[in-house]
Amino acid sequence: MDIKNNLSEVHKKISSACLRANRSVDDVTLICVSKTKPVEMLIEAYAQNERCFGENKVQEIVEKYDKLPPEAKFHMIGHLQTNKIKQLLGKCTLIHSVDSLYLAKAIDKEAKKKNITVDILIEVNAANEATKYGVSFEQVPGLVIEISKLSNLCIRGLMTVAPYVENGEDNRPIFKKMYQLFVDLKCKNIDNTNIDILSMGMTGDYEVAIEEGATMVRIGTGIFGARNYNI
Ligand SMILES: *Cc1c(COP(=O)(O)O)cnc(C)c1O
Repeated sequence: MDIKNNLSEVHKKISSACLRANRSVDDVTLICVSKTKPVEMLIEAYAQNERCFGENKVQEIVEKYDKLPPEAKFHMIGHLQTNKIKQLLGKCTLIHSVDSLYLAKAIDKEAKKKNITVDILIEVNAANEATKYGVSFEQVPGLVIEISKLSNLCIRGLMTVAPYVENGEDNRPIFKKMYQLFVDLKCKNIDNTNIDILSMGMTGDYEVAIEEGATMVRIGTGIFGARNYNI
């Protein structure tokens, strides 16, 4: 696996997508999705100046956290169980996967104990897939209002895992809808929120996501190769 080469390809494609959309590359953050991958691979990406890593298990964040320099930032992108929150806080820079008031309250409670503010995104199940986590588009505004009342959380925006498609172009309508909702929320200027992050786009569709306004893309396979879940 040539991580260095993969990263340079990814950055080239991010730049081209930004150019097509008349956006600055500085407005798009690459999250290297390192779930299931050994810490050596993260260190290799770190050596190529990557600083953001996406993981979907608290246990993996906890294990990898101590093995990387403090400049490395971990993003929680997977479903979060309330009994794991305590271990996670302090080791994760952004939780992308908040999908209920129940979970938000539990994070807020732990954040209060630690006297910190936790940045979060609301996960949207944009295509209403039964197998996916997240709330519907319709539920987002109401949930944002409720969560904004929790003083130790700061809502920074939205995240979605779009359907798996052969052709990334097929997800364009979903990304457009996400961007619309993102802008609508931003314009509301709700107290105690700071809406500036739209996390969407994975290996198969990140260029389209950037063209439609993503500010964070989460790329795993395109950097670290296919994942093996049988080990
Ligand atoms: C695994 C994962 C990714 C990365 O997917 P790739 O297709 O390997 O780029 C992105 N986001 C989330 C939430 C994931 O779980």
